[in-house]
Amino acid sequence: ARTPRARAEVTEERHRAVVIGSGFGGAVTAAHLGRAGVQTLVLERGLRWPTGPNAQTFPHMFAPDHRASWLSPLPVMTGAPPIPSAPYTGLMERVKGNGIDILCGAGVGGSSLLYHGMTLQPDGEQFARSVSARIDYDLLDREYFPRVARTLHLATIPDDLLHHERYRSSRRFLERAAVEGLDTFRVPMPIDWDFARRELTGELSPSYTNGDLIYGVNNGGKYSVDVTWLADAEATGNVHVETLHRVNDIERGADGRWVAHTDRLATDGTVVERKRIVADAL
Ligand SMILES: Cc1cc2nc3c(=O)[nH]c(=O)nc-3n(C[C@H](O)[C@H](O)[C@H](O)COP(=O)(O)OP(=O)(O)OC[C@H]3O[C@@H](n4cnc5c(N)ncnc54)[C@H](O)[C@@H]3O)c2cc1C
Repeated sequence: ARTPRARAEVTEERHRAVVIGSGFGGAVTAAHLGRAGVQTLVLERGLRWPTGPNAQTFPHMFAPDHRASWLSPLPVMTGAPPIPSAPYTGLMERVKGNGIDILCGAGVGGSSLLYHGMTLQPDGEQFARSVSARIDYDLLDREYFPRVARTLHLATIPDDLLHHERYRSSRRFLERAAVEGLDTFRVPMPIDWDFARRELTGELSPSYTNGDLIYGVNNGGKYSVDVTWLADAEATGNVHVETLHRVNDIERGADGRWVAHTDRLATDGTVVERKRIVADAL
């Protein structure tokens, strides 16, 4: 039964540290806090999306269903028809902007559930120009970019896959680029390529090898944030993730503590509980 928002019960909780969102930003923060022994609550508006060989966790690219959109029957992908279904706390939200729309993931792991995972390291000059010249790029290059590469198990497509019949279009592209005198390289991806091999032998239904991954990779084998930093954070025993918790506003009290005004949602978006979540650190 629906509970009108105004009548939903208000409860108060106190925590040492609260992190809002469980994407790259939130999960890395939670992992640091957890390792440092800080009891931490992660508030995530979306659901968990567990994967595994031949799972049907995520909707399919050419037949998206109610799981595709965050509380909206409107399609997130340009040109796709509306999805005739009741609102659901689905995977992707299209945030309309002025001349630009932004696709945002919703779920434990954030947009890493949906992203393609092309992981390119900028050189020092690009980094200074587009991010900041005040951040020590050499330290990032020496320490942090390699750490990210290890955590994401970055790997480029192996030769045997690239030479498989299924990847003929990629080879055509490389040939064409060479004819045009363009340099090409293989993009590092957070993928266990064995999953693609197992798809090609028929052991797994296709996901990587037919490009059916815009709403997530059903088979798994993708090192998204939920199975890397966030799993590490939870394994410390100090980090707890609450799903279906949408933060509406934050404020800082006179005592220096933070308050996150949060709705606990049902999967149709109904507010079932309103929480004042008080934290020393946010
Ligand atoms: C389709 C797609 C393809 C992409 N491909 C690539 C790629 O190939 N390479 C690349 O480098 N990047 C890619 N990106 C971008 C990359 O995924 C993002 O830059 C990155 O995930 C952002 O991390 P984040 O932590 O800032 O936000 P997110 O990962 O989006 O995490 C934010 C989290 O906060 C939660 N949240 C938001 N608001 C609230 C609230 N009010 N209360 C509680 N929780 C909330 C969301 O549900 C989400 O889980 C892609 C993105 C998309 C959508």
